[in-house]
Amino acid sequence: MSQAERRVPGTLPAGLRPETLAVRSALPPSQYGENSEALFLTSAYVQPDAETSARRFANNEDFTYNRTSNPTVRSLEARLAALEGAEAAIATSTGMSAILLLAMGLLKAGDHVLCSRSVFGSTINLFAKEFGKFGVQTSFVSQTDLGEWRAAITPTTRLLFAETPTNPLTEVCDIRALADLAHEAGALLVVDNTFCTPALQRPLELGADLVMHAGTKFLDGQGRVMAGSVCGPRRIIQDVLAPVLRTVGMTISPFNAWVVLKGLETLKLRMEAHSRQAMAIAQWLEAHPRVARVHYPGLSSHPQHALALRQQGGQGGAVLSFELQGHDPEAAKAAAFHVIDSTQLLSIATNLGDTKSILCHPATTSHGRLSEAQRQAAGIGQGLLRLAVGLEHVDDITDDLQRGLATLPHSL
Ligand SMILES: *Cc1c(COP(=O)(O)O)cnc(C)c1O
Repeated sequence: MSQAERRVPGTLPAGLRPETLAVRSALPPSQYGENSEALFLTSAYVQPDAETSARRFANNEDFTYNRTSNPTVRSLEARLAALEGAEAAIATSTGMSAILLLAMGLLKAGDHVLCSRSVFGSTINLFAKEFGKFGVQTSFVSQTDLGEWRAAITPTTRLLFAETPTNPLTEVCDIRALADLAHEAGALLVVDNTFCTPALQRPLELGADLVMHAGTKFLDGQGRVMAGSVCGPRRIIQDVLAPVLRTVGMTISPFNAWVVLKGLETLKLRMEAHSRQAMAIAQWLEAHPRVARVHYPGLSSHPQHALALRQQGGQGGAVLSFELQGHDPEAAKAAAFHVIDSTQLLSIATNLGDTKSILCHPATTSHGRLSEAQRQAAGIGQGLLRLAVGLEHVDDITDDLQRGLATLPHSL
């Protein structure tokens, strides 16, 4: 067997573990035998002859034009599918365009979607506003109350959409229970797995039909590029979604695909380190006299602690939030701003999934467009801070938080 044949996906030895698949799953190398997967920056592909060209265009075979397919993108898709335990994956330009793709492929006017109220803000806008214009209705229900999901199902419900854990309160939903509910109703369950990644949580094994990712976050892992993907059965990815992507063009740039492809090689190591650090910081915050409450699935005080650990490979993930002591909203906001502005190390930003820890104030950023009443209902108080834990030394992160926590005014 030649080197090239050995590397063809499917000709790797059977039964490889996820750590190995994360490093080895890819298209075969080019004639130059590069050990690290190549970056193919090209818009078009020269065809060997007219007959081959005609056949490839007729059957949408690889490789003709970059909107349709690219070898670097194919390697990313193969690697991601292997990690999620999916038959196939399709990569997209952003996380949001992955949701656009799956909705365009699976929904039509008159269809109904059930979505958790606590999902990513742009996901809510996409379903409620943008798809609403095209006659797709979406109902938003509690992240954690299965009864609410069940009661909201209608005869036209086609899709259940969940994200777990959520931002910033880290609420966890029961993927297996939602999958059972979806299937009883003849609908599909889609899980946004951005926060856990397949290194911690594999929704398809728990019964979900499709998994989507904002590859912008932990899959890249170093805050460099935008990316997205959908993983699932071949009959949906290749037969339903690929033709839509070909026509609509939410194609990922090969460069971004290459960055994420290489990011996946260290995904498990990074997610375990992020989780370990987040757990240590969550415990430190929980013991802090100026902190009223910590939201982190790894803590036994988390309302869905047992479910989270069962679903997330025994780990809490990389994101936590915490509430400062104090009830008056104005004082709580001033205290939160004081903690943010006292940092000398942490990044003040709203992204996550980076090696650099990121601190933000959800009430005036990600949830800033909600009314105060909507924010109260969502549990996003003015004293809430979200920390996306990076890979700096954990003591440097807590030292940086302590600068502000130690100098808060005593009466809040
Ligand atoms: C960031 C994010 C998205 C959107 O991804 P983009 O790449 O920014 O379009 C979707 N879901 C979750 C959970 C996210 O964190």
